[in-house]
Amino acid sequence: MATKPLEPAVILVADRTLSGRYTILFEGIFATMQTTQVPEMAMKRLVSPPLRLDTRGRAHSAALGIRRIEAALIAQGVTAEDDVVCTTPEGLDRLLGPWVKVVGVSSSDPLGRAMSNTTTKHFLDGELYTGVWTDTMMTRLARAKERFDFKIVAGGAGAWQWALDHAAAERHGIDAIFDGYGEDEGVRLIADLINGRGAHTTPERDSTSERVTTSERVTTPKRVPAPKRVPAPECVTAPECFSSQHTAGSSIVPIRGASLLGIVELSRGCGRGCAFCTMARRKMIHLPVDTILSDIETNVKAGIGSVVSGSEDLFRYGASGSSVDFEALHDLLVRMKEIDGLRFMQIDHANVTSVVQLDDAQLGEISRLLRWGKRSDYLWVNMGVESANGHLVAANSAGKIAPYDPADWGDMVRDAVDRLNRTGFFPVLSIILGLPGETPRDVEKTFELVKEMSAKRAVVFPIFHEPVRPAAIAAGESFTMDRMRPDHLELFTLCYEINFKWVPRLFWDNQRAGGVPFFKRALMRLLGKSEIRTWRRKFSHYERLLRDRADRPAPESVAPCDGAQNGTLPPEGASCRGQGSEHARTR
Ligand code: SF4
Repeated sequence: MATKPLEPAVILVADRTLSGRYTILFEGIFATMQTTQVPEMAMKRLVSPPLRLDTRGRAHSAALGIRRIEAALIAQGVTAEDDVVCTTPEGLDRLLGPWVKVVGVSSSDPLGRAMSNTTTKHFLDGELYTGVWTDTMMTRLARAKERFDFKIVAGGAGAWQWALDHAAAERHGIDAIFDGYGEDEGVRLIADLINGRGAHTTPERDSTSERVTTSERVTTPKRVPAPKRVPAPECVTAPECFSSQHTAGSSIVPIRGASLLGIVELSRGCGRGCAFCTMARRKMIHLPVDTILSDIETNVKAGIGSVVSGSEDLFRYGASGSSVDFEALHDLLVRMKEIDGLRFMQIDHANVTSVVQLDDAQLGEISRLLRWGKRSDYLWVNMGVESANGHLVAANSAGKIAPYDPADWGDMVRDAVDRLNRTGFFPVLSIILGLPGETPRDVEKTFELVKEMSAKRAVVFPIFHEPVRPAAIAAGESFTMDRMRPDHLELFTLCYEINFKWVPRLFWDNQRAGGVPFFKRALMRLLGKSEIRTWRRKFSHYERLLRDRADRPAPESVAPCDGAQNGTLPPEGASCRGQGSEHARTR
């Protein structure tokens, strides 16, 4: 007997780069960094093959954010189980229809403006697939919306980009933007949008069939008041914007289906106050052990035995403030170790200040607990260093170094890398070029620090500064190729030459530990080699351009700022015509 098609009231979908079949985190990161200079066929077949869908259009795994919303909608009685579906862009066509009331879209970088991704965009040719694919999906959704008259709610880690670019949001057919953790206010918003369309009134009948319409099946969350709308200051026109710093901790319930990459949320928020980060003011909270274990079991049951810790600082699990709580983390890892079928756990982020609070024995024990049967030589941990000058870091990231002295930052980074190397971890560091207030001396100091790192087991990713606050964007604080000086390029090149040595090994090791077949690993390695050649060509190209620019006479008038997009640079010292207002307009 054929399975009855689903007619959900709520569809939740993530952008295509967050709907790819990845086995290890690095595959996902690699996919979100790609621009259209990689052929779309290679992207769709190799780098980001589509997630599997069942016969009714449900995704086998889905971005964690939409999984959480799905679980919360059901737990709070807003929808029945079959009235909410997590799917992929490929699954939309079979689910959209007159029964749909709300489509929730999640993206980490909908307009291609996330800090780590824009670095690739500035340096290489083409447009980021994060933006291109989101645009394709939203265009289709906007067309379907005209036909079926549902509402579109945009959320996810990149929601701030839509909130700052209403032209794009309107073009994408978005009715409401929700920037924050959605289990409380986001769920209320969805319920409100559904109810605004006639729920709790006399049940309507679909004129084209005898099926009961969604309005009969959808209820308001019990004891949940109308959505608390928190308009972001920059949102003054339609679509409506909701911005929340609330972490919704008490409303988190275990996910009901597997998460993309097996990402398992250990903590959410951070609260260290970095001006360039959307987590700056969201205080860190930790999920209960039982919720974490339940989420891992859900993934393992779905065949995902290789998971990723979702946290801005793994080592802070269970602690309050900026201290660490080794016992709490240790207990969690011991319980995780008992889960049958779990074979690999990758760490995402951690903080230097947390690492230096742990001694070698403690770090060694954590490293031991994170290793399963399969060998893994690259247990990497991603830490933001930003600059070797701690005072510059502290000026841009109020709580990043606290409670330590910014003057000690460089030595703390060295110490953290050494401790991690001694105890079986592989540090993945990131630095930011063009932090507000940066001087040539800061670049030089960071160069010296990175040079030291080249003798250790570590990689360093240089990122172009990309502000997230409207005032900083309007002030033109983005770092672009126009602002790059020879010392920046030298630092950038040094970092990448280190990465070219280690990243292919790390990638291979993690793929092997995650169970990626040899054939796919070999193909990805080939693609990686071609990318390395492209990057090296670009380094030589920009070196020549910077040399030419240095030889040119100083400008008498202002120059346009879009030179780098055309492979040229304005003369050094040239001011960029209208940069601030251009940014203010386009964001
Ligand atoms: S420490 Fe990291 S996650 Fe926390 S606010 Fe700073 S950049 Fe964001």
